[in-house]
Amino acid sequence: MAKILLVEDELDLAMLIKNWLSGESHLIEIESDGREAMYRLAVNSYDLIILDLMLPNLDGIKICRQFREKQGSIPILMVSAKNTIDDKETGLNAGADDYLTKPFHLKELAARVRVLLRRPPQMQNQKLTVGDITLDTLACNVMKGENVIHLLPKEYRLLEFLMRHPNQVFSSESLFMRVWESDTAASLDTVRGHIMRIRSKLDHNNENSIIQTVRGLGYKIRN
Ligand code: CA
Repeated sequence: MAKILLVEDELDLAMLIKNWLSGESHLIEIESDGREAMYRLAVNSYDLIILDLMLPNLDGIKICRQFREKQGSIPILMVSAKNTIDDKETGLNAGADDYLTKPFHLKELAARVRVLLRRPPQMQNQKLTVGDITLDTLACNVMKGENVIHLLPKEYRLLEFLMRHPNQVFSSESLFMRVWESDTAASLDTVRGHIMRIRSKLDHNNENSIIQTVRGLGYKIRN
């Protein structure tokens, strides 16, 4: 699961890409305007950018350069109908990690996204385990011992995110930015509510919760 900013002003293409990548359980936000894209990158947190070149108000090359100048380090996949070697060189020199020429097959786009998101080996584990809780990232299910635990999609995403980063403390705000769509109307209470529900589904009454509250700082998964 990754949170991806898709900067593309051809909305039909943007929707096709969104549908395809959502099928691989990524969270996709579409932005069609170059300047708005810079704003989103400044205030939101993403795992990857798919960036068109020709955009209203600010082109993809400038977005890429400005983002890198501000120390933005997440992978950028540039997509464009410009297909000469010079175009590709310009894109890569501006800080893109990969360059895909339009038209492309969505399968190829998804494969390149997978490569760019490739995580260190310990993060690729299909099964994440903490205590007697096991989360299978391929089957998308959660087990406690022998029992299947039924989580709603956002509860699942939140738990997966925390289990991928054991012993790291995250504030409600940073969990919200990583797990929810940026334009969602939900508030930080939503995060607290989801944590409570995950706990009520996973914990027995008299044991320490799998998700620990670190006072004044946020939450972490004990390991
Ligand atoms: Ca365009």
